Amino acid sequence: MAAPKVAVVGAGVIGLSTALCITETCPSCSVTVLSDQFSPNTTSDVAAGMLIPHTYPGTPIHVQKQWFKETFTFLFAISNSPEASEAGIHLVSGWQVFKNTPKEELPFWSDVVLGFRPMSEAELQKFPEHRFGQTFTTLKCDCPPYLLWLEKRLKATGVQMHTRKVADLWDLHSEYNVVVNCAGIGAHQLVGDEKLFPVRGQVLKVHAPWVKNFIRDGDGLTYIYPGIHRVTLGGTREKGSWSLSPDPGTTKDIFDRCCSLEPALRGARDIEVKVGLRPSRRCVRLQREVLSRGGVKFPVVHNYGHGAGGFSVQRGTAKEAARLVGECIATLPGSSLRAKL
Ligand code: FAD
Repeated sequence: MAAPKVAVVGAGVIGLSTALCITETCPSCSVTVLSDQFSPNTTSDVAAGMLIPHTYPGTPIHVQKQWFKETFTFLFAISNSPEASEAGIHLVSGWQVFKNTPKEELPFWSDVVLGFRPMSEAELQKFPEHRFGQTFTTLKCDCPPYLLWLEKRLKATGVQMHTRKVADLWDLHSEYNVVVNCAGIGAHQLVGDEKLFPVRGQVLKVHAPWVKNFIRDGDGLTYIYPGIHRVTLGGTREKGSWSLSPDPGTTKDIFDRCCSLEPALRGARDIEVKVGLRPSRRCVRLQREVLSRGGVKFPVVHNYGHGAGGFSVQRGTAKEAARLVGECIATLPGSSLRAKL
């Protein structure tokens, strides 16, 4: 039988990770990534890329933990390989600090990151306004290099990449056997998902190579995340805002908040401002659907709505999406499959 044809819509971290998992679980598939934008023009390029999970209220914690663990394990292996610098993956240690002791002193992901423990009194002296803190080592993706590394890996396995805006998933039914929807916030329009909403985030990327440790304040509104070349300073969470224009007042506010956490940042240079729209939902939409028109059926797998945590759960959700693609392929009627191939 000829290769089943799979289209993945979207070339952010979720689309590229999903395409990679499909090539691994279904090596006989012919995989194509279709996207109106590629790196460096996706939301994923704006992200800080830290592996600290965001919580999805509509998804059981054990499932979220599994997604995070699979992602951590995958990226940890890259960080220990000669590909680490090209892929932009590195370990980073630091502090999560709180003005008051949080309700949950041990987050669900504390035994996945490395060396998680409460901060000592001596460590807390660095943060005179904070009374409680946790220290640990996690992974960080430098996002544009990581996306390019994923694209390179996909091309090396024969995956095609085409620039194309998809107006309706059904438009792909005559060319592909299965479509995977990884359109991020674009899914709001593409499939009319009213449960999906933007949470606007503005960040600064600065030159401050002397800052080596991450610092995250409380629930993560203010953060300092050092990457290989640049430090990401954040942030904002503006629910329902679709604006991609940087706001100069917000830039000053972010910089001041970060400097009060880490005064050494006052010497930061070469400040770039970026804005992205987190594709937010109560839970990631990770499910199969069968589109049907005039008696013709077209299987779809959705994998979007990762909100503030797409980098942290990319591999876990991509593996599940690839498993669902496998199920779709297994149920394709031989006759329609042959007709298309
Ligand atoms: P995107 O990156 O937006 O990709 C969607 C793709 O679909 C794009 O290529 C787009 O062009 C394409 N597309 C959309 N519609 C169509 C269409 N109709 N036809 C064709 N193509 C289409 N997460 C973390 O885990 N850690 C962090 O530290 C972190 N920091 C963040 C900081 C900020 C400021 C922001 C904004 C986000 C941050 N995130 C972080 C969240 C993370 O960026 C997202 O969860 C993730 O990027 C979502 O990836 P995605 O591939 O679903 O979406």
